[in-house]
Amino acid sequence: MTNFKLGLDFAKQLDKNDSLASFRHQFHIPKDQHGNDVIYLCGNSLGLQPKITKDYINQELEDWANLGVEGHTEGKNPWLHYHEFLTETMANIVGAKSSEVVVMNSLTANLHFMMVSFYQPTPKRYKILIEADAFPSDKYAVESQLRHHGFDDKEGLILWKAREGEELANYDDLEAILKEQGDEIALIMIGGVNYYTGQFFDLKRITELGHKHGCVVGFDCAHGAGNVALNLHDSGADFAVWCSYKYLNSGPGSLSGAFVHNRHANRKDLNRFTGWWSHNKQTRFKMRDEFDQLPGAEGWQLSNPPILSMAAIRASLDVFKDAGFENLLHKSKQLTGYFEFLINKLNHSDIKIITPSNPSERGCQLSIQVKNANRSLHDKLTEAGVISDWREPDVIRCAPVPLYNSFEDVYNMVERLKDIL
Ligand SMILES: *Cc1c(COP(=O)(O)O)cnc(C)c1O
Repeated sequence: MTNFKLGLDFAKQLDKNDSLASFRHQFHIPKDQHGNDVIYLCGNSLGLQPKITKDYINQELEDWANLGVEGHTEGKNPWLHYHEFLTETMANIVGAKSSEVVVMNSLTANLHFMMVSFYQPTPKRYKILIEADAFPSDKYAVESQLRHHGFDDKEGLILWKAREGEELANYDDLEAILKEQGDEIALIMIGGVNYYTGQFFDLKRITELGHKHGCVVGFDCAHGAGNVALNLHDSGADFAVWCSYKYLNSGPGSLSGAFVHNRHANRKDLNRFTGWWSHNKQTRFKMRDEFDQLPGAEGWQLSNPPILSMAAIRASLDVFKDAGFENLLHKSKQLTGYFEFLINKLNHSDIKIITPSNPSERGCQLSIQVKNANRSLHDKLTEAGVISDWREPDVIRCAPVPLYNSFEDVYNMVERLKDIL
């Protein structure tokens, strides 16, 4: 790790030495009212648009215009197989085998579809454990699964809470919960990287712990995919889901990814919802055959997918492939380390970073708590051209993204924060 220094010259030096610096020019950077690039630190919420995305989508619009239904087989990128163009790069980014990954549906929908298979409660083992500050959609989803199976959504939900006066969840507490109630827990469902604190959980450790107690373990990696090395296969997790519009830059509401560990690839005993896209590709269009389950994650698909959205994902994944995910992770550690250094150098008694300081326990996001602050701080930052994200009661979340953020962005953000404080 670099020994960081103060001052704009040092930020410029870091940018000069950054072999990924040119990737910024492959993105559309929003402008402020004076026509200058904003300091965009919201890639954890909606990633920016790669310039090639338009071409990728236009290609499919043209094939549709020129070929109509024939585009399914005769298009430049035949639609029938389109999701397969995404699989390998996506699998690489989340650390999985190709057969374990599929792009389909939207995120919360996939979470439900995974729970149809992997939340199989019995009268004795029916509880679901989530982290206390889980993303609201995930909490609502698991609560509704409890109700769907006839259980009480309060009694059946166990929260892994941070200790009094602390922000981060502690593994000893998880062990204690499992020791005490492990045989009542059917499913552990954790946000791989917590959206609020930025804490990157040890997926393998949680999975091993859960499995030891007979629980199924799944992760929502919406804040992890494209941001950290998830190593989903090696983690041993039963399933995972994530979206493609945050760090994966694929456009608002774009499709989700799903991972199913290959030890479940051919299980016929798993309950699941199916559709014609879960059926054997060779005989799918004979339309009369008995249902024949596709093996692997693809077997969880239901519908023929929206190609225009997939084209945007394909464009974004091609940018990732060009940059190299390992290179991005390396820059990310530098960029966020530098950000942390500058914030700490402010030496301001009201400011505290609640994200773990250990780089292996976080991604690029820093969640900065500002005591006695309110939303007006965030609004002033926005006026000063810094796009960040405010979470009640007192946290600014900032995510410098290695693909399109510069060290100078980080420097300028902290300067503006300093002025406002
Ligand atoms: C962003 C995010 C969501 C959003 O769900 P959608 O179904 O895509 O609207 C859900 N869960 C987590 C953990 C998220 O970070």
